[in-house]
Amino acid sequence: MPDPTYRPATLLVHAGTARSNFDETAEALFLTSGFVYANAEQAEATFAGTARHFQYSRFGNPTVAMLEGRLAALEGAEACRVTASGMAAVHAALLAHVRAGDRVVAARALFGSCHWIVSTLLPRYGIETMFVDGADLDQWREALRQPTRMVLLETPSNPMLEVIDLAAVCRLAHDAGALVVVDNVFATPLLQQPLRLGADIVVYSCTKHIDGQGRVLGGAVLGSRAWVEETLQPFVRNTGPTLSAFNAWLLLKGLETLHLRVAAASATAARIADFLAAQPAVARVLYPARADHPQHRLAMAQMAGGGTLVSCEIAGGKPAAFRLMNALRLIRISNNLGDSKSLVTHPATTTHLRIGAPERARLGITDGVLRLSVGLEDGGDLIEDLATALRAAA
Ligand SMILES: *Cc1c(COP(=O)(O)O)cnc(C)c1O
Repeated sequence: MPDPTYRPATLLVHAGTARSNFDETAEALFLTSGFVYANAEQAEATFAGTARHFQYSRFGNPTVAMLEGRLAALEGAEACRVTASGMAAVHAALLAHVRAGDRVVAARALFGSCHWIVSTLLPRYGIETMFVDGADLDQWREALRQPTRMVLLETPSNPMLEVIDLAAVCRLAHDAGALVVVDNVFATPLLQQPLRLGADIVVYSCTKHIDGQGRVLGGAVLGSRAWVEETLQPFVRNTGPTLSAFNAWLLLKGLETLHLRVAAASATAARIADFLAAQPAVARVLYPARADHPQHRLAMAQMAGGGTLVSCEIAGGKPAAFRLMNALRLIRISNNLGDSKSLVTHPATTTHLRIGAPERARLGITDGVLRLSVGLEDGGDLIEDLATALRAAA
């Protein structure tokens, strides 16, 4: 492990690397389901926990462990477990910790599948759940008057880029006895460190910026060593949401350039947000680093940048939004995000279709809202694509 005082760009290239006895430069890819023991005594000691040795790739693999070490160093977390997808990470973080009779409070503006876990899955197992408007501290205060086991939130949120006051919510949650789980996908580990603001657990979809090249699914859960080893690891080990070593190897390579990609895409996102804000056909732009974002000051106090996503509301609702999307040539229509390719989403008819019109209205997701995930193309080309499409859609 490198010196923990190294800065993020250095950690992204070196942290977690464990060379084999061949002294390879790049991280080795260990495509093996199991491991052999020198003798029966070593096998016994490994299972008894008195010797450290890889046993079976469902619960540990050298390539996967390198990724976990690198993510933990970057996040400033004591420990990390990676999973086969972001949803496996969220599911494991929650289900490993809660039991029947517990209470979970979540911010309403959650990724669709996270919303389903809280609204539909957890209640099946006797867990009481409730949603609050994440930006409203009075609602958190009210909801956290009762003993609570876990809090789940996402900031900035998808797709309205609403920002939640992490330090304030963590204080209220801790007073209620809850652990705070932050889905930090939109901010990335580089632009926001929830553990430093009081959160207990951070989850990622590594599918997004960490791979960043649209290749594989992956997830990560980070927290204290005690929680990861005693609460999360038994759940992961026995239920098997394991990340494949091959995907871990790709994610390790993705991490090496994360700071370059996030900085470049964020700078272009800021340019695009300013361009969109000046267009008469755009009723509203949401970008945390712009002074007109409703929670701009809070966003800039807890984030180191505005991020790679820009949302906007097109005047003229769904017909105008669809005309604009269909006129884009370079920016492609997709529900994914955090890719090197710029992508546009119409949340009301795709990612947020299933939550229903009343919930969309509560979240402010009108039929004119578009979410743009800004990639690594030249910003001038992206702005020209948007300008041409806006003219065509008018
Ligand atoms: C994509 C995403 C997830 C789910 O991750 P998968 O890798 O698709 O399973 C969870 N939360 C947020 C905010 C996401 O963007």
